[in-house]
Amino acid sequence: MQPMTQKFQNYIGGRWSDSSDGKTFENRNPANWQEVLGTFPLSTKEDVDRAAKAAEAAFRKWRLVPAPERGSIMRKVGDIMVARKEEIARIMTREMGKPLLETRGDVQEGIDTAYYCATEGRRLFGINTPSELRNKLNLSFRVPVGVCGLITPWNFPMAIPTWNLFPGLVAGNTFVFKPAEDTPQTATVLTEILLEAGLPEGCLNLVHGAGTTVGAAITEHPVIRAISFTGSTATGRIVAEACGRQTKHVCLEMGGKNAEIVMDDADLDLALEGALWGAFGTTGQRCTATSRLILHEKIHDEFVQKLVAQAARLRLGDGLESTTDVGPVINEKQRKNIERYVRIGREEGATCALGGGIPGGQAGSTDPRDLTKGWFFQPTIFTGVTPTMRIATEEIFGPVLSVLKCSSLEEAIEINNSVIYGLSSSIYTRDVNKAMVAARDLETGITYINSATIGAEAHMPFGGVKATGNGHREGGWAVFDFYTEWKSVYIDYSGKLQRAQIDNS
Ligand code: NAD
Repeated sequence: MQPMTQKFQNYIGGRWSDSSDGKTFENRNPANWQEVLGTFPLSTKEDVDRAAKAAEAAFRKWRLVPAPERGSIMRKVGDIMVARKEEIARIMTREMGKPLLETRGDVQEGIDTAYYCATEGRRLFGINTPSELRNKLNLSFRVPVGVCGLITPWNFPMAIPTWNLFPGLVAGNTFVFKPAEDTPQTATVLTEILLEAGLPEGCLNLVHGAGTTVGAAITEHPVIRAISFTGSTATGRIVAEACGRQTKHVCLEMGGKNAEIVMDDADLDLALEGALWGAFGTTGQRCTATSRLILHEKIHDEFVQKLVAQAARLRLGDGLESTTDVGPVINEKQRKNIERYVRIGREEGATCALGGGIPGGQAGSTDPRDLTKGWFFQPTIFTGVTPTMRIATEEIFGPVLSVLKCSSLEEAIEINNSVIYGLSSSIYTRDVNKAMVAARDLETGITYINSATIGAEAHMPFGGVKATGNGHREGGWAVFDFYTEWKSVYIDYSGKLQRAQIDNS
């Protein structure tokens, strides 16, 4: 007998419900696509409308709850996440593939954000200034924006929603949340946790479904005043255009083409570890993944030789197995895209020094891992890459590393800055002067000195420049600039009409 497939629902206006037309979609395990993890509502525009109205009604009360009290809910959220960390990590690994070590880290980022935001509820500081007039006081303070729409990708299914929901809720906003189609269960768990911690009904409305239906309806809905979008630059542009037409606030976190630079004076073993972790962690599907490695010509050959040897030893497999270093990619479409870029790289004349294909089965092997059932792709390294090749400039979002050569720090920086993206960069050098120049001149929102391109901390601003972002930041104190508006208040206690710029001139 077939096991029953678990059926999940939307959460709208304090109730779990199906999509308005009853349609559903399946969520499958990328390490074993025959395994259906559950069915989820393929929601409609009407579902989004109900969610937006529920969020609007909830906002009227939620904005009046004192911010420290809103923050204390986040403390409980953090406590629940700590208690359920291992269980949530397993759910995430099954639905998006990365090894448990990494999904535990993803949950931990949510925990850190919860505790950080809990305390920020007591620190939503305003600024008071003297007035230019007598017997008058000027105050300015933060107020919530209103109903916010949150549209997220699948690669950090816990961290990214928490970066938005926790500060946004603490600031007094309410939400309509559409998670990626590939990670709906993690979003469901997060919603359950917020409810268990005491979030009032209507403050968070979860609507599953397709980007072009649910995501577009959220973007277009007149009640929703701000949109936080994380995903590809192509989709981000669509979202930004719609928001521009409606003068909606929009925070965009989009693609990247991040580089690690290794100078000839670097600790090469450390740089090698960083390159392996940056390029093949999360199967290269991090927005901050290392997809370019810029090596000084003096150490290039030695470094490449060691890199290829070590990358060849990475073990592909189901992320639930403790022996796995690299999990599958997220879905068939993404794997086909990676194959396409490998073809492009070969056509462009780069050398495929490692991988480049779908791993074969394990026929006749004693290894219990069966890679043929999942969306696996071999860790791949291209050498002889030049800065203008497509594999050096376009986001691939998979385990593919392009190696480029440079002869100076200036050239390395120029190569780094030559792409349209600007999320993360890293430089390995023992020369403090070179490190400082790089920190200043690399055109990215984040720069790491002597560590990999990945590793954001919850209390620091996170985001990119150029085609990666639109000037906003998630994380830390900076995210509150997106989730609040400034309100200026003038209090005149003179008892007479005082005309600014006239009576004091
Ligand atoms: P995607 O753009 O395909 O989808 C992102 C989200 O947008 C999904 O929830 C999707 O359903 C929704 N969507 C799709 N079409 C839409 C539309 N027309 N209107 C509104 N919403 C729509 O991206 P993805 O494949 O899920 O994620 C991978 C991308 O995300 C990569 O480019 C990666 O670099 C980027 N990313 C960026 C960051 C960052 O912070 N800069 C973080 C993680 C991922």
